[in-house]
Amino acid sequence: MIDYKTDAEGIATLTWNVASRPMNVLNAESMAAFDAAMRRAAGDPLVKGVIVTSARPEFVAGGDLDLIRDIRTAEESFAASGPVSATLRLLETSGKPFVAAINGTALGGGLEICLACHHRIVVDDPTIQLGLPEVTLGLLPAAGGTQRLPRMIGIKQALPYLLEGRKATPAAALAAGIVDEVVRADQLLDRARAWLLAAGAEATVKPWDAKGFRFPGGTPQTPGPTQLFFGAGGDLLARTQGLYPAPEAILACVYDGCQVDLDTGLKIEQRQFARLATSPATKNMIRTLFHAMGEANRLADRPKYIPPRAYQRIAVLGAGMMGAGIAYVSAQAGLDVVLLDANQGAAEKGKSYGAKLLDAQVAKGRMEAAKRDSILARVHPTTDYAQLTGCQIVIEAVFEDRAVKAEVTRKAEAAMDPEAIFASNTSTLPITGLAETSSRAAQFVGLHFFSPVEKMPLVEVIRGRQTSEASIAHALDFVKRIRKTPIVVNDCPAFYANRAFGMYPYEAMTMLGEGVDPALIENAGRMAGMPMPPLALIDEFSAELLYKAMKQAREDQGSAYREQPQDHVLITMVEKLGRLGRKVGQGFYEYPAEGGKRLWTGLAEVFPRAVEQPDVEQVRQRLMYSQSLEAARCVAEGIVSPRDADVGSLLGWGFPAALGGALGLIDTVGPDAFVDACDALARRHGARFEVPATLRDLARAGGRYYPA
Ligand code: NAD
Repeated sequence: MIDYKTDAEGIATLTWNVASRPMNVLNAESMAAFDAAMRRAAGDPLVKGVIVTSARPEFVAGGDLDLIRDIRTAEESFAASGPVSATLRLLETSGKPFVAAINGTALGGGLEICLACHHRIVVDDPTIQLGLPEVTLGLLPAAGGTQRLPRMIGIKQALPYLLEGRKATPAAALAAGIVDEVVRADQLLDRARAWLLAAGAEATVKPWDAKGFRFPGGTPQTPGPTQLFFGAGGDLLARTQGLYPAPEAILACVYDGCQVDLDTGLKIEQRQFARLATSPATKNMIRTLFHAMGEANRLADRPKYIPPRAYQRIAVLGAGMMGAGIAYVSAQAGLDVVLLDANQGAAEKGKSYGAKLLDAQVAKGRMEAAKRDSILARVHPTTDYAQLTGCQIVIEAVFEDRAVKAEVTRKAEAAMDPEAIFASNTSTLPITGLAETSSRAAQFVGLHFFSPVEKMPLVEVIRGRQTSEASIAHALDFVKRIRKTPIVVNDCPAFYANRAFGMYPYEAMTMLGEGVDPALIENAGRMAGMPMPPLALIDEFSAELLYKAMKQAREDQGSAYREQPQDHVLITMVEKLGRLGRKVGQGFYEYPAEGGKRLWTGLAEVFPRAVEQPDVEQVRQRLMYSQSLEAARCVAEGIVSPRDADVGSLLGWGFPAALGGALGLIDTVGPDAFVDACDALARRHGARFEVPATLRDLARAGGRYYPA
């Protein structure tokens, strides 16, 4: 795992090469090997200095997250992370100079190895990333990162790297003082060797281990940083609502650890890490954001016996908001895209959507003009169906109208290659019904994108009753090809994401109709960790959308339609008041000309306040449990797998990652407690809180969606 080599001049080279894994990672075995190699070099009187580098494209990609999964207690946490921290401290205080020759990306524990070395040289390559991204998975850098980085570059400069997981290119890292030199790849080892040969004894003593160390920018108790900490705690709470323990723990490490010597600081870091490694929020984040999302991106459930489809040329029908976005991301991924609309002007306009986004990148210096031009050259606006020849997939994104969709399906299928698949991006019309207009229903799937397409990573792959497994597999290949994350959903009204997410605005409107104070509803949504309070959210996408869906359901179901508790609120807002939302300047909020927004004062008159108000926890529970319950129903009905339900909730509508997802919430509170709470909600608020039988059985058997 660590190649060991010495030369005639007394330079030892420790080369990371964890051949058993796809990348160099820190785990118990690789760290034991590194520890042994480090001790061997440090203890060998013939060794004058040591180079630490890697034989792989990356330096070291980070810690092995499987380690964390098994940690149950603080003791287990100390046992897992303590030795790594101790090894690096020993390296730092060994009396021999160590230089990190950083040939590729160094993240997390990888960068922490570099920080422990006495000198850092990195290859001049802007694709190399240096950073401590642990916080994004609910963790903290536990091999000295929270202690060494502030002591090197100052607390203020270190916090964005620690609290936000900011990553730096070699040039940015040099400017920030995280590395000492940036050199050409072919000079890396020579420079490292030269530095070691020139290094005197003083080079082996870190500033913080030398007498008279002055903390750059001051310690937490000196004026600048003190001010910083005054605001930091509050800012953090506003961002995390107290749901995410990692940034709090990191702040505590920096505040407490930077007032004491490094060894004590490292102990503080270990304790805070143990708090995180044993916390449900961190386990939830790692499970969904890392393992589940990784599986979804790798298409882990895709049947292997179906050969993968390599895409070169695709078509998008309808160059409106969604079609333009789909064409743009596809061209960006290197595909040739036929972008078809009813008239040439509309098709060109769809192409110009991508052009604007690319122009902005060029203007900011993030893209070469030539790259922009080559991406745009791949988009071919047209009205001619003959262009669909040679396309491996055709994605329909025309008006949400069955007749229009039927017409383009017919025209497209007449022109498509026999093996190509047809995908509809409908948001509300069941795929099985749309496929009835198809002459090749086995090759008809749903691909439900989210808006704006270039920003939203999720795509629901919808399986209609007649869709073949090969078509699902090929649709998954396409989603992967355009670097989006797919989940597989069996056809049902609203599919999975909109169906489960819809409960959030619906329950908010139901409560408003019952006389719950709207400010209470909005605050509860915010405190629950949702990206936006529910009434504000409805204003953003317009109540009219929900109103139209309600009208459609009434029409479709006729006398079988069951009045929903939020219906009267929608009818009042849309039909009676015309308060459709932000787009018309009035909704649940008012939007003063001078900017900003505030809850519409007239709401109290239209929906009179109940004398007795629920407490905020009850409101939060109704907003969140209703979503989780709908997700559980989808799982019970076989519409989506638990894993995809959770991935979909995080990526599709910003369900808080600390809960692991809409189903993760149920495991987090415990299925038994969740079912009891829903039973109580059902008694008080009605049948929509009744739990599906499979969830009740799971709870009574003491089971979980994700057994420990
Ligand atoms: P849009 O109105 O912006 O675009 C529709 C485009 O289809 C227009 O450019 C129109 O000219 C074109 N078109 C209409 N009839 C056509 C025909 N016969 N032949 C060729 N082109 C035709 O609509 P949108 O928001 O992009 O939505 C498109 C589809 O995506 C709808 O089915 C919608 O439900 C779905 N969808 C929308 C969203 C969203 O947030 N807007 C999200 C997911 C899915």
